Amino acid sequence: MIVVMLWSLFLGTCFGSFINVVAYRVPRGESIIRPGSRCPFCTVPISWWDNIPVISWLNLRARCRSCGAPIAARYPLVELLGGFIAVACYLVWGLSLEGLAWMLILVLLLAIALVDLDTYMIPDAFTGLVGVLGLGKVFLAWELHTVFGHVGAGLAGAGLIWLIILVSKGGMGFGDVKLVGALGIVLGAQGLAVALCAGVILGAFAGISLLLAGRKRRRDPIPFGPFLVAGSVIAAFGGEQMARWYVMWASS
Ligand SMILES: [Zn+2]
Repeated sequence: MIVVMLWSLFLGTCFGSFINVVAYRVPRGESIIRPGSRCPFCTVPISWWDNIPVISWLNLRARCRSCGAPIAARYPLVELLGGFIAVACYLVWGLSLEGLAWMLILVLLLAIALVDLDTYMIPDAFTGLVGVLGLGKVFLAWELHTVFGHVGAGLAGAGLIWLIILVSKGGMGFGDVKLVGALGIVLGAQGLAVALCAGVILGAFAGISLLLAGRKRRRDPIPFGPFLVAGSVIAAFGGEQMARWYVMWASS
């Protein structure tokens, strides 16, 4: 078991490393395959031994080997997050197709959070892939009512966010509508409810903290995607339990 966990950790950090590339290049309209990794400052190609997740960043002391430009801590952090996602998926779902689907979905969500943080946009291709993987995961369960339930949750959730946008005229965008639709397919009604509640609470908390710290002003936009993603992670790993606690609390 420990061997599989270490492999999961390694594989997950590699996925995280790839997500760093994707999150940097996709908003710039660059290919995610060619050219290979290079320093954004001096454009010198990065050799594979300087591109080992987390370890190379530590080894290079957070600086490019050729030009000495700083490499942001975000890169190893995303790689570590990828590793944690893979290990958590293995612990919860074991070595299964379902676990693999969850891992890919959560890694994609991480990419969505990063791109939304950087650009206030969520690429449709990412959201679409999340939806397709979610459908695949639901079909694995091979129960027709689950398929309808999850697709229905996606449609209802997307409709709700769309209504909120119409009423509030701001805050969220259509990227969020589509993301919530895809998340409904992945999580189902109960999970989506947990993800939305957690996302709103985390978003409000972060918004107030940024205001108090003077990092943002009242009118500054804050992307909702990263909080939706954080809420979805909570829902994925503990959503059913939380929904059960809530029902127990509400009915007591
Ligand atoms: Zn450089």
